[in-house]
Amino acid sequence: MIKYQLICDAEHDFEGWFRDSADYDAQAEDGLVECPACGSEKIRKAMMAPAIVGGKRSSSRAARLAEIKRDMGQAVERARDYVEKNFDYVGDQFPEEARKIHYGEKEERGIYGEATGKEVKDLVDEGVSVAPLPGPRRTSPEPSDDAASPQASAADKPGKPRGKQRVTENKKLN
Ligand SMILES: [Zn+2]
Repeated sequence: MIKYQLICDAEHDFEGWFRDSADYDAQAEDGLVECPACGSEKIRKAMMAPAIVGGKRSSSRAARLAEIKRDMGQAVERARDYVEKNFDYVGDQFPEEARKIHYGEKEERGIYGEATGKEVKDLVDEGVSVAPLPGPRRTSPEPSDDAASPQASAADKPGKPRGKQRVTENKKLN
């Protein structure tokens, strides 16, 4: 017998016992393997977690892993939310502003904006603490009529080099 950790297309995970891998393939092909939570027949094998013989524990381990993954996703979301709500968006001025704050020419505050890899490297070399903003970029890159939004106008500036990273000057977080 072989045990597979399985996931349906709605991301429910569960486990199934099969005679061997060919048995799994045959059953899956015939739609005989279905998700106990939603009945979906679109099942795939999950990455195997170390199995503990005797049942229960490996499934709770898989559940814990899924939970951790979910929590991490939420933490990334929260970090982004925090930065976007509490930090000033300075767009392409980021390297300059970060430097001014670092050297005390400007009041210390949280900022975020855009910088090229080289600009980031230069900042780091100078001892400015910068960090990439986690998570996918949410600001719409499409042209927008909303000129009042500094994010949109900065992001839509013509000729903005591609491949810039969003970074934060994270003194405030320390
Ligand atoms: Zn399901």
